[in-house]
This record gives sequence, structure tokens and C-alpha cells, in this order.
Amino acid sequence: MDFHDYQDVWVFIEEKDGAIAPVSLELLGAGRGLADKRGCNLAGILIGENISHLADTMFEYGADIAYIYDQPIFKNYRTESFMQALLHCSNKYKPEIILYGATSTGKDLASAVATDLPTGLTADTTELDVEEETGLLLASRPAFGGNIMATILCKKYRPQMATVRAKVMKALTPQPGRKGKIIEESISLKEEDIRTKVLEIVKETTKKVRIDEADIIVAGGKGLGSAEGFQLIHKLAESLGGAVGASRDVVEAGWIEHAHQVGQTGVTVTPKIYFAIGISGAIQHIVGMKNSGLIIAINKDPEAPIFEACHYGIVGDAFEIVPILIEQFQQA
Ligand code: FAD
Repeated sequence: MDFHDYQDVWVFIEEKDGAIAPVSLELLGAGRGLADKRGCNLAGILIGENISHLADTMFEYGADIAYIYDQPIFKNYRTESFMQALLHCSNKYKPEIILYGATSTGKDLASAVATDLPTGLTADTTELDVEEETGLLLASRPAFGGNIMATILCKKYRPQMATVRAKVMKALTPQPGRKGKIIEESISLKEEDIRTKVLEIVKETTKKVRIDEADIIVAGGKGLGSAEGFQLIHKLAESLGGAVGASRDVVEAGWIEHAHQVGQTGVTVTPKIYFAIGISGAIQHIVGMKNSGLIIAINKDPEAPIFEACHYGIVGDAFEIVPILIEQFQQA
């Protein structure tokens, strides 16, 4: 097949509460690097209602082009309507690469678009590059239980598409006043053409610090012994104003919800400080927290693999050490 018409790198821009979601800014940073290597433009595609003003932010964070679908029908995210806009834009302007955040919206949209175009989709990638000779996207992700990194190429179809985990790419330092080209598009789509309706939006009311936004994460593992023992992790997190993280075994035991799971099948986090308490340090856990600023491990087994991955390690019983830490932090 002739792919000559397919040129630029695109990022699907997610909007949340009137601002561009951090994962999309990170992807603009990653996309800028890919576009520079390929010698092409970086574009952002933004779909929503009253969102056109966000084009400036896209340019400041590295985009050259902003494709905008600003229509009332796009007020709330719905697979069918957003997919129609993305297909329309992609068929018209033919991107070589489209990146989406591996969020619930990004994963949903990318897989729907992939089936309709049709093209491939590399899901949940953690590394991106382009092959020098061909300019093909090299999308890498952990595979076989996190034991290897698999690099996946989409040779036969266009666009090449990937969802990318939050917090693994870096947003560029914004350049205020940086300009780009705005391309306003629209599609004729009627409300009755869309099978899903948004009846109500219920906002999360919890005051707890979100794990993907926290500067400090206190994560606990099976070493805490029980759901009651795991309360110690909540107390330490509270004394530090941090969020609670967990290993998969803890989530599977039902001590905490999956939203708190760190690792390959959980969330990737990069807090300033990460406490790993009673966590052995399986590779599937390490891949989700290894880029934290400072990693402090507490484990009673001096041979635990977590001690290979931490900056500071305390060999000892969590039930003796953590209460002392809580007391100290509460006094500080
Ligand atoms: P354990 O391995 O049982 O470790 C408990 C640790 O606590 C031990 O090191 C022990 O010495 C220590 N300990 C015991 N008592 C105390 C005490 N009183 N004080 C201090 N230390 C104590 N895991 C994840 O975390 N995230 C993932 O996303 C993930 N994805 C996976 C995907 C796949 C495909 C597979 C196969 C596995 C995945 N896992 C994941 C599971 C992973 O392999 C490990 O099984 C899991 O991380 C172990 O959890 P843990 O460290 O809490 O438990």
C-alpha cells in the first residue's frame, strides 16, 4: 500500500473541567520528539463544546496544528460521537501516527477507531520512538508478566496508533505565545444518531489524595497481613498528606480498591516520595513506581528484591517501625 499521504504525528487531546488533561500535555511532549525525528508536524485533535480556547495551550506545549471540533453534540464524551469526529478528521488529513492517553476515555476511543479505520493499536505503551530508516513508530510495552519489553510495529496499516500510560512521558516546558495553525472542522451528527445518552454526571466527592496526582505515596503489600493491618498504611499516608498505594496481591485480597494498585496492571506513578511497606518488589510492581523521586522500603526480609530498587531501605517489622514514623510525622 502507498502511505505517501500519511504524514503527521497527532495527539488526541482530552479535556477535563475546562483544561487539557495532564496526560495529553505529556503526549504532546512525546509527540514533539517523534515529529522532530520524522521531520513532520505535531497536531492535537480536540473534540468538545466550548473548547476552542484550548488551542493556545496546545501550541505552548509543542503542537504545530490544532484540529478542533467544537459542537454542542460533543458536550460529554461518548464513544460514537467522538469516534465519528476522529474518523472524519483522520480520513481527511491522514495522520501517520495517533497517540491517546491510556485513560478510560483514550482506551475506549482508540479501540473503537482502530476497528473502524481499520488499523492496529498498541495498548498501554510505556516507551515511544521512531525507527531511523523507515520512520515507523516503535511502541514498547511490558509483556509476559513484565519480564520483557515488547516493541510493536504496525507496518501494513495507517495510521499507526498507540495508547500511552499517564506519567511516563514528560510534558515540555510551556512556551507562552508560541503559535500554530487552527483548523476548525465539524460533522453533521444528530442526537438521535447516537445510541448512548448522558443522564447525569456524578462527581467524585472523596477528599482523599489521588494516587496519580500525589507527591507522596505510602504503598502497602501483603506483609501487612490483613485488612486491619493495612489500616497502618492509611494512617501513615494521612500523617504525611499522601495517597495510599497497594500491590496487586493486596487488591486481590480485597483490602483496597483496584484504583490504588501500583504496577503493570495498575497505575504508573512518579511521586516525589514512595514508601513501599511489606511489598516484596516483584517486577510487575517495580515497573509502576521505579521513576519515583525517592523510594523508601520497609521489609522484614533483608533479601527482598525491593531493596534492589529503593534509595533507602529499613529491614524490620512494619508493625514496629510504622507507628514510630506516624508519631514522628504527627509531631513535625
Ligand atoms: P508478597 O510478594 O507476598 O510480599 C510480601 C512482603 O512483605 C515480603 O517481602 C515479606 O518479607 C514482607 N513482610 C511480611 N511481613 C512483614 C512485616 N511484618 N513487616 C515488613 N515486611 C513484611 N503486582 C503489583 O503490585 N502490581 C501490578 O500491577 C501487578 N501486575 C501483575 C501482572 C501480572 C501479569 C502478574 C503475573 C503479576 C502481577 N503482579 C502485580 C503481582 C506480582 O507478581 C506480585 O505477586 C505482587 O506484587 C506481590 O505483592 P506483595 O509484594 O504485596 O506480596
